[in-house]
Amino acid sequence: MNSTNLRSVDLESLELATKNKLENLKFLQKMKSTKQLDAVFQKAHDAEFKKTDCLNCGNCCKTTSPIFRDTDIKRIAKHLRVKEAAFIAQYLRIDEDRDYVLQSSPCAFLESDNTCNIYEYRPLACREYPHTNRKNMYQILELTATNTMICPAVARIVEQLKIK
Ligand code: SF4
Ligand code: SF4
Repeated sequence: MNSTNLRSVDLESLELATKNKLENLKFLQKMKSTKQLDAVFQKAHDAEFKKTDCLNCGNCCKTTSPIFRDTDIKRIAKHLRVKEAAFIAQYLRIDEDRDYVLQSSPCAFLESDNTCNIYEYRPLACREYPHTNRKNMYQILELTATNTMICPAVARIVEQLKIK
């Protein structure tokens, strides 16, 4: 697990999620049939993020990449006053799904205090991460299982849902 400078509570959450990888995947797949699934997640998400400050973590920015849509690239390049092609050449690559993603992790825009130096201009995927408060959660339950091993808050949300 490439999770540097995390609080012990967050490391423990990620370690438990890695240990419970298969169990969590099966549990989340079963949740597909849960009534009012979005509301169930929203409630657990709100409760978790009342306690969790992303500035104490930053693990998503340290270990994974958001997808950069064309509109994200346009907005960020404009903000940085570089040509889109130059921005792409410097920071991005195309992944196996043919999406633009970061060339390397941690993200080049992550500061040492876990702030994002393009915060106002960051990709939509960064704004929406960890995707536990969105509509149609049934579509991303496998992704959520993967995110339990990246985001300690998601790991705790899933643990909370399991005891309900
Ligand atoms: S753009 Fe900002 S929010 Fe997105 S991964 Fe990089 S540092 Fe994190
Ligand atoms: S979204 Fe999750 S992984 Fe990212 S900084 Fe917040 S708690 Fe950490």
